[in-house]
Amino acid sequence: MKYLIIISSLVCCVFWSSNPLQAQSQACGDPAPDWPNILTAAQVNQYAASNFQAPSFNIRIKFHILRQTNGTTGPSVADINTQLGYLNANFASHNISFTLDPTNFINNSNYVTGSYVGTYSDGSSRYVPFTRDTLYPQYGATNRLDIFVWPSEFGFLAGNAINIPNDYMAISEVKFSALWSAHISHEAGHCLNLLHTHQSANLTCPNAAKEEVDGGNCATAGDLCCDTPADPKLNNGGSVYNTSTCTYSDTVPRDCENAIYTPDGANIMSYGNQCRSIFSVEQRNRMHAELSFGAKGPNMLVCNTTLAVTGTITDGLYSANTTVNCNGDVNSGANVQFSAGTTINFTTGTKLSSGSSVKASLGGCNPN
Ligand SMILES: [Zn+2]
Repeated sequence: MKYLIIISSLVCCVFWSSNPLQAQSQACGDPAPDWPNILTAAQVNQYAASNFQAPSFNIRIKFHILRQTNGTTGPSVADINTQLGYLNANFASHNISFTLDPTNFINNSNYVTGSYVGTYSDGSSRYVPFTRDTLYPQYGATNRLDIFVWPSEFGFLAGNAINIPNDYMAISEVKFSALWSAHISHEAGHCLNLLHTHQSANLTCPNAAKEEVDGGNCATAGDLCCDTPADPKLNNGGSVYNTSTCTYSDTVPRDCENAIYTPDGANIMSYGNQCRSIFSVEQRNRMHAELSFGAKGPNMLVCNTTLAVTGTITDGLYSANTTVNCNGDVNSGANVQFSAGTTINFTTGTKLSSGSSVKASLGGCNPN
C-alpha cells in the first residue's frame, strides 16, 4: 500500500511557430488579420495524447442586443434562450456547455440604422470594425464570450468571429431561425480555435496550405484537422452542395492533385448551412486545447463546481470546474485521472494501491 499526496498541474505551455494561414484567409466572408494564436495540429495532438484533458468545460457567455432607442426591435429574451439551446445542443456531446450572463440590451438607434456603422469605408465588412472598435470596447469583457447580435436592419449578413481564437463574436438576427441553428455554434467554434473546413481552399495550386483530398497534408493545411475531409467551400463561389438533400456531387473543383472533393456538409465549420450539426473528434480536441491553455479560452471558463471523491476509487476521470477533493482508496491497478479548474486536494488517508496510476491536472477557469 502506498500513500499519495500529489498535486500536479498542466500549465500554459504554448509554442508558436510561423504558419501558412496568416494573412490569406477569411472568417465568414470578412478579411481576417493575422491569427498568431492558432494552435498547430502538433500542439493539439500532444494535448489530446497527454490525457490531461479536463472533460467538462463551462463557458460564460453574454449576449448584447442592438435595438432601436425605444426598445421595440431586436430579439427577445426568449429568442436568446433559443440560441443558448442551439449552442448547448451542438456542444453537449463534446463536454462543453454555456452559462448565460444577463442579456445586455443596447437601445441606440444610431447603432441600428446603419448610418453610424456606415462611416467605415470597407464595404459590407464595416460591421466587423464597428463590432471590434465600437461595441467590444464599450460592452465586452475578457472573462466571458461576448456575443453581439447584429440587428435585422443590417441586412442578411453572416456572423463573424472577428479573430481566431477570440472572446467575442457577432451573429445576425436574421439567422435566428431553426434553419440556421448551427450559425451561432459556427462562430463559437471559431472563437475556440476552429478554422473553416474549407480553409485555404480558394488558393491557387500549388500551395502548401491547400488541403489535399487524400489527407496527405492534413496536419499542416486546410483546417489542420485530419478527420475532416478536404472541402472546396460549399456553395460559395467554389462548388455545388445540395442543402435540401445534404449531398455533394460536384466533380468540377479539384485539389492540387486533381482529385474530386468529398466534403462533409454536416460539419458545423463548413458552409453546409442547415445540414450542419457535428464537430469532429479533432475539432473537439482543438477546442479543449484552446480552453485549457489557449490565448482566450481559459479566461472564459466558469469556476462553479466542486467534486468530492470518496470511498473506493475505480478507473475513471473525476472532474470539476473549480475543485476536486479526494479522500478515498484508489483500487489496485486502477487508472484514475483528476481534473479541476483551480485546486485538487488529496486529504490525509487517501490511499493508492499497488499497480494503480493517478494523474492530476489543473485546466484553468476564471473565478471572477
Ligand atoms: Zn466561419
